[in-house]
Amino acid sequence: MAERRHVLIIGPQGSGKGTQAARVAPALGLVHVAMGDLFRSLMQHDTPLAREVRSYYDRGALVPDELTLRVLLAHLDELAERDGAYQGTLLDGFPRTRAQAEALDRVLAERHEQIAAVVELAVPRTVLIERLSGRLICPQCGAVYHRVFAPPQVPGRCDRCGGELIQRSDDTPEAIARRLDLYEEQTAPLLEYYRQRGLLLTVNGDQPIEQVTHELIAALRPRLEDSHGNHAEITS
Ligand code: AMP
Repeated sequence: MAERRHVLIIGPQGSGKGTQAARVAPALGLVHVAMGDLFRSLMQHDTPLAREVRSYYDRGALVPDELTLRVLLAHLDELAERDGAYQGTLLDGFPRTRAQAEALDRVLAERHEQIAAVVELAVPRTVLIERLSGRLICPQCGAVYHRVFAPPQVPGRCDRCGGELIQRSDDTPEAIARRLDLYEEQTAPLLEYYRQRGLLLTVNGDQPIEQVTHELIAALRPRLEDSHGNHAEITS
């Protein structure tokens, strides 16, 4: 079996990471793993762990590294159990701190897995605030809308499943500002960490969705060819 290879997608909140990762992952034969989605699904049940996560999440603060890593690893183990042949993940929202990046390196080395590439989605802060403050999500199926830029056909209702749309609990003006500051302080420095290892690619995320997807796939596809010049099973 070919060695598993992972791609990291890094960008501020509202840069379109989630939307793009969901489109790009299947085209590259990768499984989309979104750290925020893992937390949101965990918080659907009222457990001590869910309450702990919520105490950070609702303020727009980062969940502690140790807890975040535990949740991620449990999910990766579950993926491998479900399908031993999966080729790798498109990791969205992890790592977000230097400690998480180092932990990821350790864990992948132990598993003989690799990071094939890290892609940055670059978007100006003014655009991010505009996008985040109008964002609506469907808690039932995870679809994402925007009051102005991508409204649902029937106001307040999900086009896909009919669920009632809500604003995310961390899409308030205070939490948005906090999350963008945290990104600048803690996550943006990771770009340099990966640039130095020759892993970093940058794509302009302030373009139509289709164009961003196209550029991401074109940039990542060559990086997923293995060292013997074989192609991973990539579909278009
Ligand atoms: P997202 O959906 O990626 O915007 O993440 C939503 C929230 O989940 C963040 O504001 C954090 O509270 C939490 N979260 C997601 N990823 C991480 C991470 N790698 N480390 C710590 N907290 C995280």
